[in-house]
Amino acid sequence: MKEIYAIFGGNFDPIHYGHIISAEKLSREISIKKIILLPNYGPPHRSKTKTSIIDRLKMIKFAIKDNKLFTISYLETKKNTTFYTIETLKKIRKKIGYLQPLCFIIGEDNLNNLNIWKDWKKILSLSHLLICPRIHIKKSNPKLKKWISDHTTKNSNLLHKKPFGFIFFSKMSMLNISSTAIRKSYYEGKSACGLLPSKIDKYILSKNLYKIYNQN
Ligand code: ATP
Repeated sequence: MKEIYAIFGGNFDPIHYGHIISAEKLSREISIKKIILLPNYGPPHRSKTKTSIIDRLKMIKFAIKDNKLFTISYLETKKNTTFYTIETLKKIRKKIGYLQPLCFIIGEDNLNNLNIWKDWKKILSLSHLLICPRIHIKKSNPKLKKWISDHTTKNSNLLHKKPFGFIFFSKMSMLNISSTAIRKSYYEGKSACGLLPSKIDKYILSKNLYKIYNQN
């Protein structure tokens, strides 16, 4: 079996157990040895992040300290730059070539919005997509739905055998945690302890991170 190169992109504003535990479960389900977290300076198709990339990177570092599964990629952290997943995947392919299996991890909410991403159909010509279950999923449009079903496999071995081209839905149970709900908790003066590592909770409280900004 070829080793999988797995990327998990996001705002991570803040990173939480929904991200960490989902990634750990995927790593066991599919035999992934390393997961590369890819924090984004600010994604093109969503509203701005509420905290700086410096704060978000600090929180990611707290979350993955002493956890050998994770590393961080700084490919999408450059200030005031718009990053598109397709371009980042091309950059990664330039580095690792086209033979190594590459997986991009996303939640089902993002999968069902994929048709608004730049060159979304081309993503599978560069990587596989690993899907984590999420709540409040918007129905996908019919074209996207068909594309998803045409490329879905239940055979995780294929993800090791082929370098790109498949969508795999994880069988893990859903973790009802979101950065939005966590930000709201801090904004309202409630603790979100238990939903993220305590070091991050302390960091957020000490810097008053989500007190200053409005939720959403
Ligand atoms: P927000 O609430 O601000 O939208 P989020 O909790 O979705 O944030 P992101 O940093 O935007 O966090 O997510 C990065 C990736 O992780 C996305 O693909 C998202 O779908 C996925 N993800 C986030 N939370 C979970 C969760 N609880 N379980 C599985 N996947 C998740």
